Amino acid sequence: MEMPLPDAGTLARKSDIVARLTAALPPGTVISDVAETRAYECDALSAYRCAPLAVALPRTTAEVATVLRLCHDMRVPVVPRGAGTSLAGGSLPTADSVVLGVARLNAVLETDLPNRTIRVGSGRTNLSVTGAVEADGFFYAPDPSSQLACAIAGNIAMNSGGAHCLKYGVTTNNLLGVTMVTMDGTVHEIGGAYLDAGGLDLLALICGSEGQLGVVTEATLRILPKPEGARPVLIGYDSSEVAGACVSDIIKAGVLPVAIEFMDRPCIEATEAFAHAGYPDCEALLIVEVEGSPAEIDEQLAIILEIARRHDPVELRESASAEESARIWLGRKSAFGAMGQMGDYMCLDGTIPVSQLPFVLRRIGELSVQFGLKVGNVFHAGDGNMHPLIIYDANTPGQQEKCEALGAEILKLCVEVGGCLTGEHGVGIEKRDLMDYQFAPEDLDMQMAVKDVFDPGWLLNPAKVFPLAASAVRRMAAQ
Ligand SMILES: Cc1cc2nc3c(=O)[nH]c(=O)nc-3n(C[C@H](O)[C@H](O)[C@H](O)COP(=O)(O)OP(=O)(O)OC[C@H]3O[C@@H](n4cnc5c(N)ncnc54)[C@H](O)[C@@H]3O)c2cc1C
Repeated sequence: MEMPLPDAGTLARKSDIVARLTAALPPGTVISDVAETRAYECDALSAYRCAPLAVALPRTTAEVATVLRLCHDMRVPVVPRGAGTSLAGGSLPTADSVVLGVARLNAVLETDLPNRTIRVGSGRTNLSVTGAVEADGFFYAPDPSSQLACAIAGNIAMNSGGAHCLKYGVTTNNLLGVTMVTMDGTVHEIGGAYLDAGGLDLLALICGSEGQLGVVTEATLRILPKPEGARPVLIGYDSSEVAGACVSDIIKAGVLPVAIEFMDRPCIEATEAFAHAGYPDCEALLIVEVEGSPAEIDEQLAIILEIARRHDPVELRESASAEESARIWLGRKSAFGAMGQMGDYMCLDGTIPVSQLPFVLRRIGELSVQFGLKVGNVFHAGDGNMHPLIIYDANTPGQQEKCEALGAEILKLCVEVGGCLTGEHGVGIEKRDLMDYQFAPEDLDMQMAVKDVFDPGWLLNPAKVFPLAASAVRRMAAQ
């Protein structure tokens, strides 16, 4: 879906904006050629596209500050961008905006093993943070499935999670400090290098703020010693509801697996055809992984296997080797790609109380029949973070609208059972107009008042997160 084109006034300003940015920054920093900016016109919610006025790719915090100050003075909106893997349209440009990409700020700035921290440029990819410390026996815990590509900047903005966040927490639990530039070009140090930086916890406000408050250029992250070992078990069931009940019972039992992942039949079939992981023919699959010393692993798995057996599984496969563990994970890690082979898909991201899994899975099945669209479920079940994937055909007129309507019903269902609209992918443009389903007008007003403080002109990452009508009123008032 193409977004509106820039108006004549904006186009007339383009050459002036590009000229001023180009003059103030080193050669090669600003891209304005339409063919070259094409790569930045969408993120992983690729159904929505819009070419920006220009793209700036600075190398330092000072250059980021220059871009922001100039855009602030010219009243040009800025869309911060990491690697562009957002599934919620978080880094989708508007036609009158400059995209500010931080991918070049990707250095390891300091590694402090005794204090278990690492400081990196925010453009560094998630996986390469672990890459920088693994030889010393450490790792960075949050592990989005997109970790090979996505940047720490986007992880912070979306408070990203991953399969192993059940035990270690999501980005906010592993972030100690940031350098952030506000829209007027001021550089701020927020948080620090230790668990408590003193003062108000502004860092908690920044993490998950979806590029609304400032542009993060550096981050200090917590790193952890690698566990002695890990072992997954694959559990197959004849019904999604029973698998959901098993998850609920494992959580209730007080063991803390490092991951509990769930896949239903559509995902299992797509994955088998794609990755040949050797998954059983069943309605629902769980991958439960525990870690620690061999004795700790044995003890935790004994409890989990006993619970799994109580629910009458069709398959119970405990990994006996590193090769088998890799095979068990292979299908799960390929699931999104495999579902992509079936057609276009929209990946939702709602969170629910774990105890509601059986009910919500049944309702999703009913809604899928009602709307006539296939839905596959693959998600982080341990923390109730669901990722229903709706399969549709973008080339069939009306299918995208139908898919979005079904997506809205599923997300509303998550709110109705006591959950929320997003677990880890953020609101972006995808869920902004559902926000008033979750929040009262007073709540939204309070959230927008926070943006007023950091970005009084409402120039950062426009038309995201807040319902469009409400944020338009705010923007008009700011002008
Ligand atoms: C196949 C696939 C699997 C995925 N799996 C997961 C998963 O398991 N868990 C998960 O949480 N997510 C997942 N995602 C979603 C996505 O990868 C995450 O949201 C990720 O954190 C986005 O990072 P990015 O660098 O690509 O950010 P972008 O897409 O570039 O931007 C995301 C948001 O961050 C803002 N932003 C970017 N840079 C900055 C900055 N420097 N300062 C302030 N704001 C900034 C943007 O404006 C935007 O709002 C997946 C995506 C894909 C395509």
